Amino acid sequence: MRTWISIALSLLLIASCNKTSLPAFDLSGRTMGTTFNITLVSPPDDTDLDALGAIIQDRLEYIENIASTYRDNSELSQFNSNPSMDWIAVTPEFCRMISSALDVSVMTRGAFDITVGPLVNLWGFGPSPEESGLPTEEQITQARSGVNYEALEADCDKFVVRKSLKATYVDLSGWAKGYAVDEIAAILDARDVDNYLIEIGGELRVQGRNPKQEPFSIAIEKPIKNNAMKYHALLLTDAAVATSGDYRNFYEHDGQRYSHTIDPRTGRPVSHQLTGVTVVSTSTAFADAIATALLVLGADEGWVLAEELDIAAYFLIRTEDGLKEISTTKFARLNRL
Ligand code: ADP
Ligand code: MG
Repeated sequence: MRTWISIALSLLLIASCNKTSLPAFDLSGRTMGTTFNITLVSPPDDTDLDALGAIIQDRLEYIENIASTYRDNSELSQFNSNPSMDWIAVTPEFCRMISSALDVSVMTRGAFDITVGPLVNLWGFGPSPEESGLPTEEQITQARSGVNYEALEADCDKFVVRKSLKATYVDLSGWAKGYAVDEIAAILDARDVDNYLIEIGGELRVQGRNPKQEPFSIAIEKPIKNNAMKYHALLLTDAAVATSGDYRNFYEHDGQRYSHTIDPRTGRPVSHQLTGVTVVSTSTAFADAIATALLVLGADEGWVLAEELDIAAYFLIRTEDGLKEISTTKFARLNRL
């Protein structure tokens, strides 16, 4: 299921009548069970696009080999299957991913929690989906007993990580896509590509200007599965955008919707009227994780936390009268179309 499709390079045709349009190049493919799309606008003349595509593909492959729970031999899977509760030597990159994700757990008081893995798997959103209906109370209680970010520690001076619960199972799926976007941005920055858009599975980052030499226009979709319609648009440059929604990845059972975002406090998929959260920040990894946390917390608690942390966040809420939107102060200051 998680196979690679080689990166396709194609020149985006920019209207020739518009003399100020810049040349743009598109790189796209598959990673982490989803797609990635990169647009380079007016890269330096000596940019070798084939070589750059290969470097990006290698980097994504490398990140999956560290952080995927879908690969048995990834560093994460090996850590998860290691029963030791002593410090375990890890790669610097793995250590930093764990450490940064744990920082977000602290900030969000556990709403974002990478030790949520046993529950993700139990509810059928992990690498080996459950076949037989919904989990029982007993199974939920059992899985919850292994979920606690405080039972995971990273010491990145020594590059060691330790779990203090046998049942700890780390899931970096809510972190890895945003992280990978930032890593691709670093590759492009190092090659003096000043204008780009990078998107992996809906988490994205824009830098500089679009082909029309304007800020990028980023749409926030209407929260309807398989029905991507623009609800709202932002004009952004030098920014990361992540959206968590209960409408993208879910299943229905007896008319009830089960989202892949799990509330670690209840052990259950989130179920409230908050249908989507969009976060704008400087780091895509951070935006990705915060969007998940705010979706867990719901509109009221989520908004309060986002204001407290001075985060630009936008909440879409289902009401009897249709969709209602709420923005934090910082989000309201962003440029809208
Ligand atoms: P979204 O963009 O909707 O947030 P992501 O793919 O970025 O979706 O993240 C969802 C994944 O994060 C889930 O499939 C699961 O593996 C993991 N996850 C679910 N709930 C949490 C949580 N509370 N904290 C951290 N990770 C979570
Ligand atoms: Mg996300």
